[in-house]
Amino acid sequence: MLAMNYRGPKRVRIDHKPMPEIMHPQDAIVRVTRSCICGSDLHLYNGNVPDTRVGMTFGHEFTGVVEEIGSEVQKLKVGDHVLVPFNIACGKCAFCKQELYGNCHESNSQATAVGGIFGYSHTAGGYDGGQAEYVRVPYADVGPTVIPEGMDPDDAVMLTDVVPTGYQAAEMGGIQKGDTVVVFGAGPVGIMAAKCAWLFGAGRVIVFDQLEYRLEFVKNYAQCEAYNFREIDDVVVFVKKTTDWMGADVCIDAVGAEAAGNAMQTITGRKTLLQAGSATALHWAINAVKKGGIVSIVGIYGPTDNLVPIGNLVNKGITIRANQASVKRLLPRLIEHVQSGVLNPKALITHRIPLEEVSDGYRIFSAKLDNCIKPVLIP
Ligand code: NAD
Ligand code: ZN
Repeated sequence: MLAMNYRGPKRVRIDHKPMPEIMHPQDAIVRVTRSCICGSDLHLYNGNVPDTRVGMTFGHEFTGVVEEIGSEVQKLKVGDHVLVPFNIACGKCAFCKQELYGNCHESNSQATAVGGIFGYSHTAGGYDGGQAEYVRVPYADVGPTVIPEGMDPDDAVMLTDVVPTGYQAAEMGGIQKGDTVVVFGAGPVGIMAAKCAWLFGAGRVIVFDQLEYRLEFVKNYAQCEAYNFREIDDVVVFVKKTTDWMGADVCIDAVGAEAAGNAMQTITGRKTLLQAGSATALHWAINAVKKGGIVSIVGIYGPTDNLVPIGNLVNKGITIRANQASVKRLLPRLIEHVQSGVLNPKALITHRIPLEEVSDGYRIFSAKLDNCIKPVLIP
C-alpha cells in the first residue's frame, strides 16, 4: 500500500509499505478515505518531538471504511464508514473511565502522561498513522465512530481532532458569561477555539496571528476581532489597554512549540533553543491574562521540559489548564453542533491533495503557502 514515510526532519515521501494486519482481537483495519495534516504533524516534521523514528507514517486525523475486524470487535462491521479520534484509548483504564481518553494508560507503554496517538512518534506509543491507504486501528470498539448519515466526510474528518481540540481549548478556559477571551494562533485549532468560545458565553473574542489571510478568515468565520502581532509593538500592553488594564479573562495558546518560530525557548534535554528578547504565545498568554485568570494550553510542546514564566504565573495567581483533547468525550455534543450548523468545520479545508503528493502537502502547510489553512490528503 501507499503510505507517507518520515525520513528525517523536513523530509517525508510517499512509499510502498506492507499492508497493516490485525495484531490483536480488538483491532480493525481501516481503508482511509480522508487524512488531514495537522499543526501537530509539523512538530514531528520539524524534528521537535523526541523519538520520532525514520520510517514512521504520520496521520492522526482520518476517516475510512472498515475493511477487517478482529474477533473481539463488536460495535463495528466491515463496510462502516468511520471517523477515528486521534487518541488511541483502551476505554477501560482509570483514565479512560474518567473520560480522559487522551491520557489512556494502556495504549502507550511509555512512562509519559500522554496516551497513544496515531502516527505520533514512540513517545505516543509508536503507532503508524493514517496518512496511508490503510491503517491499523487498535481498540476499535472504543474510538471509531460511524459517520452519521448525511454528514459530509469533510466535516467528519474535522471531528477527529480540530473541532474537539478547539472546543476543549475553550472549555478548559472556564469561560464565564461576558468574558474577554484571547486566542493565540489562527491555525485550524485557534480558529475553532475562537468559534467555540462564543458557545461558552464569551463577550469578546480576540485572536492574534501573523498571517493576514488567516486573520481575515477567522474574523469572518468566528465573528471575532483579529490582529497581526507583527504590527503591534507589545502584545501584552495591547491586551491590557483594550481591557481597561485588567488583562484578558481567559487566554488560549493554540500555537505550541516551533509554530512560534525560533522565538520558542525549549529545553530539549540536549540543547536550549533561546532567542533573547523574543516572546512566545505562551509567554504572551501568561502575561496578558488578568490576575486570577485562566490560561488554557492546547498548543503542543514536543519535549517534556519547556521554560515558562513561572514568576508571573505565581504572582498573578494564574490557573493553567492543558491537555490533549479527549475526542470521544466530546463527540456526541460536537456531532450535534455540526449537524445543526452551529459549527461548519469543513469551511477550514483549503487544500485537497492526493496522498501521492504528501510531500507537497507538508511543504505547503508548513510554509503556509497558497493561503493554506487545512490540507486533507485523499488516498
Ligand atoms: P498551525 O501551524 O496551522 O497554526 C499555528 C498558527 O500559530 C499559525 O497560523 C502561526 O502563524 C501562528 N503563530 C505562530 N506564532 C504565534 C504567536 N507567537 N502568537 C500567535 N500566533 C502565532 O497549527 P494548528 O493545526 O492550528 O495547531 C495549533 C497547535 O495546536 C499546534 O501546537 C498543535 O500541535 C496543537 N494541537 C493540539 C491538540 C491537542 O489535543 N492538545 C490537537 C491538535 C493540535
Ligand atoms: Zn491533529
